Amino acid sequence: MNISDSELIAASLEKEGLVKMDMIDADVVVFNTCSVRKHAEDRAVARLREAKAHKRKRGIVIAAGCLSQHIGTRLLEDKICDIAVGPYESPNIAQIIREFLKDNSRNLFISSEKDDFAGRLHPSLIMRPEREHWHRFVTITHGCENFCTYCIVPHVRGPLISFNSEEIIDFIKQLPRSGVFEVTLLGQNVNQFGQDNGDISFCQLLERVSTIPGIEKINFMTSHPKDFNPDIIRQIANNNTIARSIHLPLQSGSDEILKRMNRGYNVKHYIELIDSIRQAGDIAITTDLIVGFPGETEEQHKESMALIKEIGYDDAYMYAYSPREGTVSAKYDMQLSKETKNRRLTELITMQREITVSRLDNLIGKKEKIVVERVSRKNDNEVSGKTFSNRQAVLAGSRDDIGKIFTIEYEKVNGATLYGKKV
Ligand code: SAM
Ligand code: SF4
Repeated sequence: MNISDSELIAASLEKEGLVKMDMIDADVVVFNTCSVRKHAEDRAVARLREAKAHKRKRGIVIAAGCLSQHIGTRLLEDKICDIAVGPYESPNIAQIIREFLKDNSRNLFISSEKDDFAGRLHPSLIMRPEREHWHRFVTITHGCENFCTYCIVPHVRGPLISFNSEEIIDFIKQLPRSGVFEVTLLGQNVNQFGQDNGDISFCQLLERVSTIPGIEKINFMTSHPKDFNPDIIRQIANNNTIARSIHLPLQSGSDEILKRMNRGYNVKHYIELIDSIRQAGDIAITTDLIVGFPGETEEQHKESMALIKEIGYDDAYMYAYSPREGTVSAKYDMQLSKETKNRRLTELITMQREITVSRLDNLIGKKEKIVVERVSRKNDNEVSGKTFSNRQAVLAGSRDDIGKIFTIEYEKVNGATLYGKKV
């Protein structure tokens, strides 16, 4: 979502005639920030301070994104930035700079009124040369109102806003003109698409996007176990254009913790979803997990470990719980020590690494389509890319292969790297 927002910010500035350059010489420096974990905020503040020190005499430093929405007033008071812009207005940055140059007392732009929401499907993004020229992120929903008790997103990105399905489809229809054949549909919980405005369902949207001429691969993220349903699984299983990979965040393997996280599902429901996905065919499954939620006992941590082992994810993003000011769980008693959280995280990461490698080993001999993304850093005669199940793989090739689709057969796994050959 942040990469996608950064593209909108860049497009807004380029339209105004600004060009990308090193921070040292730039007149305007924009940091697009994240607030999901404290560590991300601390890093953003440090980078902003550094930029502000460089720009003491000349230049404007802008903090964009969720950090500004969260603590924009504080950033301005502490003189860490010149302008603070929340996610609602990130795509309007050029206009905001113009206003600031006329009147520098107007420097805080953190409204979350729906009327102030700047759209995400800008025509300027269609022809904009991106690093991955064959791929575009397409935001289909903004915000979230699920209020998981640990999560700051609903507080900083505001309520769910689904974009109009016809506008999304019209936008995607224009993309193949500039060489795009892959799209990633984005939302905090894409499965809730249309629930706020009575539009078609997410499953219907997937089906419609898959019929657009020129679109050959559709990814989507993120799904939520409480809203994910068998129709979506069937759609993926029967539709060659949709990536065979599902990111389905579990967060915890303990019913008690899931309840206190306000996730809206239990372990039994989650396992049923996994079983249905596995029955539908060879679809990669990845997840997000949080260890050390307030009050998580050693027993509950072991429940998470056991469930993760049982499910056998292809990969997982694992985090130590980070209390976020303003969220419900930050006020819970029994916050765990840093040592406990880090130890549990290490245990989990070590176990998942082994599972990831063994899942890769099982692929040897299988064939799959791949989109080549780049020349390998270690070897000029090798390229790497993402397969149609969104696994990273390496194969023999050259720069000319970038942005093309090949079929490969998996040959070996080295460390955690999957190797294949073109067939
Ligand atoms: N909307 C998505 C969902 O519901 O899965 C993801 C949103 S969040 C930006 C991405 C991941 O960050 C979450 O799935 C969760 O695992 C993690 N996360 C969110 N808040 C966190 C917190 N306070 N501490 C640690 N991890 C957190
Ligand atoms: Fe955060 Fe939960 Fe919304 Fe995901 S679904 S963005 S974790 S509140």
